[in-house]
Amino acid sequence: MSDGRRPLAAANWKMHLLRGEARAFCEQLRAAPPTVGADAVIFPSHPLLGTVAEALAGSEIEVGGQDLHPEDTGAHTGDVSGAQLVDAGCRWAIIGHSERRRDHGEDDALVSRKLAAAVRHGLRPILCLGETRDERRAGETFAVLERQLSAALTTAPVDGASWVIAYEPVWAIGTGDVATPEQAQEAHAFLRERLAALASPALAASLRLLYGGSVKPDNAAELIVQPDVDGFLVGGASLDAGKFLAIIHACARR
Ligand code: PEP
Repeated sequence: MSDGRRPLAAANWKMHLLRGEARAFCEQLRAAPPTVGADAVIFPSHPLLGTVAEALAGSEIEVGGQDLHPEDTGAHTGDVSGAQLVDAGCRWAIIGHSERRRDHGEDDALVSRKLAAAVRHGLRPILCLGETRDERRAGETFAVLERQLSAALTTAPVDGASWVIAYEPVWAIGTGDVATPEQAQEAHAFLRERLAALASPALAASLRLLYGGSVKPDNAAELIVQPDVDGFLVGGASLDAGKFLAIIHACARR
């Protein structure tokens, strides 16, 4: 673990699993206490939040929402507010996932307002950033990260202790094309350096940077030893409790 940053494994279940499957997953996780040396958070889809929060109550594993509306209440059909997430037992929220940017047209300005809403409600944000395959091929990776990061920092006061940033190259999400440890480290080091400049060196040193994109039990170990990789945001592999446990353990061994 670098600079005292405790590793974090986050499970993004996306639009998967039903209540019975979610309960079985949580029972498996609870049967094998996974949090020694690493933190773990589960992000179920909204209808599963109550089930998962109840199934994990009293454990060290926390629960978060996959999204939230930038406003606190109102006529927003299909959306969920920060207060509702907290009420359902959430302590975290994923903000700006590339699938929301793609499916719902979320831009940097909206992501920044959502971050502010999360902070207002005491939710710990996992802000997702990352370039597309075309942007990487065009040599624009750092420019994209800089744009997304600086836009996100305009609305909400960033807090190194409770914020988390996930570097999620879009070309690696759900594709099996995991970033090499060198590619992940290069992007994370860039983000930490920019955080130092845009916020402060102390904040940059304390904030956890996760990698996300086709993380599996068999590639987690080589990624987590990179000095600026502090854990993972895991999609596909997080649907299998055994695989997610193996990833938590890889984090804990760092
Ligand atoms: C994600 O959804 O954030 C993700 C990284 O997915 P996957 O692990 O399936 O690539």
